[in-house]
Amino acid sequence: MTGTDTIFALSSGTLPAGVAVIRLSGPKAFEAAETLVGSLTGSRKALLRTLKRADGSLLDQGLVLCFRGPKSFTGEDCIEFHLHGSLAVVAAVSAELSAMPEVRFAEAGEFSRRAFENGKLDLVEVEGLADLIAAETEMQRRLAVEQGFGGQSELYMQWAERLTRARALIEAELDFADEDDVPGSVSDQVWRDVGSLYEELTNHISGARGGEVIRDGFKVAITGPPNAGKSTLMNALAGRDIAIVTEIAGTTRDVLQVDLDLDGYLVKLFDTAGIRESEDRVELEGIRRAHLTAQGADLVLLLEEIGATSGLTDDEVGTVPVIRIGTKLDRHSAASSYDICLSAETGEGLQILRDAIVQRVSSLWAGSLVPNRTRQLRYLEEASHSIHEALNDGQLDLRAEHLRAAASSLGRITGRVDVEQLLDLIFSQFCIGK
Ligand code: GDP
Repeated sequence: MTGTDTIFALSSGTLPAGVAVIRLSGPKAFEAAETLVGSLTGSRKALLRTLKRADGSLLDQGLVLCFRGPKSFTGEDCIEFHLHGSLAVVAAVSAELSAMPEVRFAEAGEFSRRAFENGKLDLVEVEGLADLIAAETEMQRRLAVEQGFGGQSELYMQWAERLTRARALIEAELDFADEDDVPGSVSDQVWRDVGSLYEELTNHISGARGGEVIRDGFKVAITGPPNAGKSTLMNALAGRDIAIVTEIAGTTRDVLQVDLDLDGYLVKLFDTAGIRESEDRVELEGIRRAHLTAQGADLVLLLEEIGATSGLTDDEVGTVPVIRIGTKLDRHSAASSYDICLSAETGEGLQILRDAIVQRVSSLWAGSLVPNRTRQLRYLEEASHSIHEALNDGQLDLRAEHLRAAASSLGRITGRVDVEQLLDLIFSQFCIGK
């Protein structure tokens, strides 16, 4: 198996479906397609063709889309067959293709990998594309398109370029300090710009939590004493918000989790209700897990039947924000000691709770570009650290070296920015040392 094989795969979803798309990429893509449908002329055209086996028997009829490299998703010659979406059609066409020499099934991610290797996508765009395909909520989709369509890469590229330009100017000052054609005062401006870039980077990093929450979900733990109405509330929230993604027993036996789509935000709801059914020793473990769940959450809903004394105080959930909820409003009158009073049974007050959750999660992401992978964050923090050193080091040559390190950390995020190439570009615009 080599990178020069021609690969194919079913690129559309589960069969049966109206249409199935088989994508073919590599040096033999056109040849393989022509074996099935006869001559293909031109590129970037949709052709209605009949697919036949070598013995002339019919396979299917469908559209054939031709993309000559490098103007294709992978950068190679690509063909897309849009066929009738049955298991049998896809199986028969796949069998024909895989019988051809140097044509084989693609491995997972191989099309994107080739796109990356051929410079069609950088790493941030590949990650964005993966997130876009996996997106289940509106906000996940928005975050993924921000990232996947080049905006974020462009930002890192610009930063790397600014840092490299600053470094070039500093090095020029070092190397040519005695010569007349170097404006000696450039360094003030250079460091001012590096300082403001540091601020931009710090702001960007501080948005990471928002990105993570949008991508992986906003964790809400429902806690409170037995019979406070935790399970009933969880069911009420899950039942009305039809877009439930999963309902699974959590990692622990006694913590249940439901994924909700609240106004386009993924909200992961954890119910710690199981603890009351446990035996003594197990109950203690259950309580411990309930507390752990609460501490790991982004928001805790602390429930109590209106008027009762709560079994869990605010202190026990550490720094996690808490909404105190008085339950069973249909039995009691509202009390001001709670943030929200509601009845999970009648639904009264539920919308206020939904709005309160959405308001908290939406405040974490303003729709701007944010890092949303630990990998990106690691390199951003590395870059930020190097810039900080550059701003604070006393020695000019070391300061320049920190700038180089920062630019190359940023370059590693996209896997594309070659700092030395940037340097050539910048130096070529200088009059010094021609
Ligand atoms: P948990 O132990 O905190 O999970 O509490 P449950 O959700 O199991 O509820 C305990 C009892 O309270 C059950 O009998 C529920 O039917 C009842 N309950 C829960 N919510 C309400 C409510 O809003 N109004 C009324 N009247 N009863 C409720």
